[in-house]
Amino acid sequence: MLTLLIAGGFLIFPCLASPADVPLIHPGPFGPDHITLNDGRVVDLPPPTVALYRMLTQTGRLHGRHTMRPTDAEGQAGIELRHRHEPYWTSRFGDRSRTPESAYLSPIEHGWLSVRPGYKPGHRAEDIFAPPGQRVFAPATMLILHAGYLSKTAGETVVGFVPAPPGQSRARYFTFVHIDVSPVRARVGEVIEAGTLLGHVARGDEAVVGNGLGRLPHVHFAIAEERPDGQLEGIRVWDLLRRAMSPRTNVSRDRRPIS
Ligand SMILES: [Zn+2]
Repeated sequence: MLTLLIAGGFLIFPCLASPADVPLIHPGPFGPDHITLNDGRVVDLPPPTVALYRMLTQTGRLHGRHTMRPTDAEGQAGIELRHRHEPYWTSRFGDRSRTPESAYLSPIEHGWLSVRPGYKPGHRAEDIFAPPGQRVFAPATMLILHAGYLSKTAGETVVGFVPAPPGQSRARYFTFVHIDVSPVRARVGEVIEAGTLLGHVARGDEAVVGNGLGRLPHVHFAIAEERPDGQLEGIRVWDLLRRAMSPRTNVSRDRRPIS
């Protein structure tokens, strides 16, 4: 840790330190926080979790839909902190081959999609419906950045990172929201193969399912890439998921995206 250089309050990742010496997520300017659940329980968020949330979303509300948005300065700090981490995460990914998009696996067994894409402003993602207990898998080889509680809305979430392919500038962030993450919790910081078990579709405990509580059980699935302004935004994944989930895909005629 002595090789770490602090500049302007931010960590600069050294070239010489081994991955074991450097934290996967440095909190940057973000401190600890906590979430109060609807039943009064309190979930403590360590600084790296708060920092990751700010790196993933510059407009998202950690404490839920009707709470304060982050300031522009906090949003920009999140972007800058992510930019400082990406070379390090890329080096941890190493020379593992990136799964081609055409070879992405289905993230969930026996799940189904809405009959129409659920991609819209405020929901740059798709919901994959499945009964509680169904297994959730990594569609692609990825570095696990997080497996645990993330925010009031998300509940327990797995976040995976895939570096930009050679010659391309955009990394991909996979998020699997409202799932019980216990199977992969111990592998945070590791690169896992496509098809690795990440978690299970959760039952109704707000500490796990976030705002999925009381709704049809589903996994909120997103693949985010950086926009020209630096913010991350989910790409359209409905067609990609239909391909990956075929031939077992069961496209429902009577269900709509819900969150
Ligand atoms: Zn959703």
